[in-house]
Amino acid sequence: MKLPWLEPLTTREPTPAVVPEPPRRGEEGGAPCSVCAGTTPDAVWSDDHFAVYPPRTCSLPGTVWIASREHVDSFVDLSPAASAAFGPFVAQVEGAILARGDVGRVHLYRWGDGGAHFHVWLMPRPLGMLDAQGMMLPLWEDVLPNATDEECLAAAQEIGSRLEG
Ligand SMILES: [Zn+2]
Repeated sequence: MKLPWLEPLTTREPTPAVVPEPPRRGEEGGAPCSVCAGTTPDAVWSDDHFAVYPPRTCSLPGTVWIASREHVDSFVDLSPAASAAFGPFVAQVEGAILARGDVGRVHLYRWGDGGAHFHVWLMPRPLGMLDAQGMMLPLWEDVLPNATDEECLAAAQEIGSRLEG
């Protein structure tokens, strides 16, 4: 795997810690939760526990994000039923992304640093793009030219059409 920038890069010291951390979207004192406020793109699929959304701007069509239907922060906060459904559901979404073809591997990311509403990202690493293995894929995604929103939406809708329910 390789960074999407040429050497030499230089390391720098981390900035001092900010404690307490600033509130995230959907957290007390932060901006409103975009999922609960409905300011996200429309979901391409949903059931009682989760909804699947297309990305807003993205260089890798087939990327989707999954959010819980309930406003909870992290895995430990999910209802028992949603928690039990998560693994099998992510497996379905992974399969639907792989079924689009030309995917080397589907990456699953959970950061949660921006919004306090439980969500994970699934991102397809293009088949053969070994530079983007592992943690390099989100960096490559950021620097590659964006696909059109229509293309990303169509890919997400295709993924949604392959899900049960
Ligand atoms: Zn929310």
